[in-house]
Amino acid sequence: MQRCQRCIMPGIPRLITLDEDGICHQCRNYRPIRMKGEKELITLLDSHRKRKSEYDCIVTVSGGRDSAFTLLKLVKDYKLKVLAVNYENPFADDQAKANIKNMIKKLSVDLVQFKFGNNIHEKILKNNIIAWFHKPSPAMVPVICVGCKIIWPRIMKIAKEHNIRCIVNGGNPYEYTSFKKELLGVNQNAGLVSAYFFNIFRLAREALHNLSYLKPKYLPFTIKGFLFANQYAIGSRLLGFKLDKIDLFHYITWNEDEVLTRIQNELDWQPPADLVSTWRFDCRLSLLKDFMYLTCLGVTEKDDFYSKLVRESKMSRREALQRIEKENELHVDVIEDIFHQLGIEDIDVSRWYEKNVH
Ligand SMILES: [Zn+2]
Repeated sequence: MQRCQRCIMPGIPRLITLDEDGICHQCRNYRPIRMKGEKELITLLDSHRKRKSEYDCIVTVSGGRDSAFTLLKLVKDYKLKVLAVNYENPFADDQAKANIKNMIKKLSVDLVQFKFGNNIHEKILKNNIIAWFHKPSPAMVPVICVGCKIIWPRIMKIAKEHNIRCIVNGGNPYEYTSFKKELLGVNQNAGLVSAYFFNIFRLAREALHNLSYLKPKYLPFTIKGFLFANQYAIGSRLLGFKLDKIDLFHYITWNEDEVLTRIQNELDWQPPADLVSTWRFDCRLSLLKDFMYLTCLGVTEKDDFYSKLVRESKMSRREALQRIEKENELHVDVIEDIFHQLGIEDIDVSRWYEKNVH
């Protein structure tokens, strides 16, 4: 596998091209990420401080590192009255759940948890996994996250119930995967809003080639997932037009060492017991996505994430290579567990891999 001499992205036919100097087109076209700055963040947060209300804002928490740091930062550094909100994802890692308990206790904040009835998350996921394995396509890997794409209306409802006008997330601009955009024909430097519209259009076109994704009984949820995919999606904007939706790391620079040191020391936050990487371990489905990308493209989202950190001089190329060497694993056992949880019995993961990759 020939990798870019500047970052670590490998050449991938029709996706990542390396020029005669061995530099990928993503490095050639890269525009450094600019933060909005802490001053702007504090002004925005100050506008939500309320003397009489119980809470100033919501912080969404998953038990992962960035949302833990966001909660810590808002409660301890900015002294806001925070309501923590958590979606009880049926695929959450046990350590992530323990981390939520610890941080709530350490910071003495209230927590609201919610889940969906009727096992709808599991049912749509099962349908989409079977559809994907029937006709694998790297562009369709994000459909695995459909469950977390329908949480926004609920979070906005909780905000309304508590008279809160501000929702803060640990969104991090380095982790918006560029190759995922390019798989759908979206420019790597496209803004969040235009990328969202392109994504919808291309995902819908892909789904038309594999109609199992569009089963009528799940269609309302699939459409809801498209409308509320994230806080920038059209549905979230319309329904939440009175809300300020803030991603902490669009204002202050994300620094992995600072994040990990502070949450471990101040929140008793623990890394996952059985995984090497602390990134996105909070949901076990991320390992299924890694498996899907590895089998289709030979890379995971980590190749892309670390490449961005290398371009931003936040990680050496050597360290990035060492990390993916250790972290890009197939984790067949975790995937078998997920299939077992969902009652998917007719796909043998190891055999499927042997047949489709070797
Ligand atoms: Zn590169």
